[in-house]
Amino acid sequence: MHVPVVVLGGGPGGYAAAFLAADLGMQVAMIERDERLGGTCLLRGCIPSKALLHVGRVLSEAREMEEWGIHFTKPSLDVAALRARKDKVISALTGGLSQLAKRRNVTIVHGAARFVNSTTLEVAPAAPGGASQRITFDHCILASGSRPARIPAFDIGSPRVMDSTAALELADVPESLLVVGGGYIGLEMGTVYAELGSKVSVVELTDMLLPGADRDLVKPLQKRLEGLFEAIMLRTKVVKLEDAGTAVRVSFEGPDGPVTKEFSRVLVAVGRRPNSDGLGLENTKVVVNPKGFVDVDGQQRTADPHILAIGDVCGEPMLAHRASHQGKVAVEAIHGEPALFAPRAIPAVVFTDPEIAWAGLTENDVAATGRVVEVSKYPWAASGRAHALGRTDGLTKMLVDPETDTVLGVGIVGPGAGELIAEGVLAIEMGCSARDLMEAIHPHPTLGETMAFSAENYFGLATEIYRPRAESADR
Ligand code: FAD
Ligand code: NAD
Repeated sequence: MHVPVVVLGGGPGGYAAAFLAADLGMQVAMIERDERLGGTCLLRGCIPSKALLHVGRVLSEAREMEEWGIHFTKPSLDVAALRARKDKVISALTGGLSQLAKRRNVTIVHGAARFVNSTTLEVAPAAPGGASQRITFDHCILASGSRPARIPAFDIGSPRVMDSTAALELADVPESLLVVGGGYIGLEMGTVYAELGSKVSVVELTDMLLPGADRDLVKPLQKRLEGLFEAIMLRTKVVKLEDAGTAVRVSFEGPDGPVTKEFSRVLVAVGRRPNSDGLGLENTKVVVNPKGFVDVDGQQRTADPHILAIGDVCGEPMLAHRASHQGKVAVEAIHGEPALFAPRAIPAVVFTDPEIAWAGLTENDVAATGRVVEVSKYPWAASGRAHALGRTDGLTKMLVDPETDTVLGVGIVGPGAGELIAEGVLAIEMGCSARDLMEAIHPHPTLGETMAFSAENYFGLATEIYRPRAESADR
């Protein structure tokens, strides 16, 4: 088979690219080794984790109602039904993708693909006994994604030691769970299991949860997690895992010296690695950097003129919306348009409770570059809506260029931060000034108002925050 455009990988990068290429009139094939479309995000990532986090949030909200005088009986948990309901979400979405591919005449080829040369892929048979097939192409968009990073010493062949995929399968709710890695997955999945009833401990190598995220945003999350989790062990290393029959015996080395503890299950969530190996890329001109990421330019073109790459396989941040956006840029580039992947803001959201979200410049970037900015913080304790929700632990902060008043970065912690950050992304992309945000009328009472209030606070003019006259700058 020959196609002008072939997409390797059916995740959020791959299917966004394939569908846009078809919409622009190109003949497209998409190769996916999995039986279903959707990739990591839909099948074993974003969507199932968010479905389970939704359940966790409902459970915690029901508990929080106690202080409002509303008493629910202790919820009973049917794990099989919960698992089935989560799987139904996945089925609906992956089925929808297949339908969309069909309607657009995107040819779906199932099987693992490998480059024979710069214009030929060989696809292994999807089922035993089948025949492999060769597909030649003018352009290939490589969207093979990533997989969980593995630590060889933790590969003890025990079903009690899980990666994120196994944790999302929700085989049971273990009495105790150790999460290795206090990053996105560790905290999101730790939250799910803790809300469902496991005693969750987190061990993190560095001195903070979510290293790399803004400390102001992490602080309220850490405080709440200290109540939800059994233990948070920072600056601590797991040195050994052993299967002790009904539990996993874990040896730690931390600030208090060596310790050994037993856990019903362990989740290893220490990052992800790009799927750039085993693809036959050595048969092409594609350059893979020492971290395993495929090198691309601003149009997602690799060093091979026939091959472009998008999503997790070509770098960080490994996020679904970045993958989809790059997929569209790659297709537009093939289509001859002056497309460029040059976002001012790629939003990041950690879907814990509270959620953490940021976009654009962060205080960590400022510390690293020495750029001069002014930081405006609006604590949710001053927001009527936050009080009405019983969640005054949030914060909305804004990094502003003091020369031009341009909004350079936004960070939010609090329930719904992941939804609220969209306004920050738009503001940064549009080059809005703090005054634009302040003067745009926000509905009351909403958490969204904290964006406008944070902008007001930059000018020293926030209605709900008193600042002595001398402190408020005359801008
Ligand atoms: P993938 O989604 O990994 O898709 C790659 C596809 O290529 C896969 O289907 C794979 O089977 C296929 N493939 C690979 N090699 C071959 C081959 N040789 N032949 C044929 N097919 C092949 N991101 C967010 O933005 N928000 C979230 O809330 C979020 N939550 C997450 C939660 C978890 C638990 C995990 C693990 C990840 C989460 N992510 C989240 C990250 C997100 O899933 C990825 O960034 C995103 O899926 C990357 O998209 P992609 O298209 O680059 O790759
Ligand atoms: P991560 O990079 O977010 O966090 C890994 C954590 O493990 C880090 O804090 C790191 O310091 C720690 N660590 C590394 N080695 C360790 C060790 N030996 N012992 C203890 N701690 C150790 O990685 P992740 O949580 O596995 O997630 C992978 C990626 O998937 C994320 O970076 C993100 O791109 C994506 N993801 C996104 C979302 C989202 O957007 N909400 C959710 C889940 C995953």
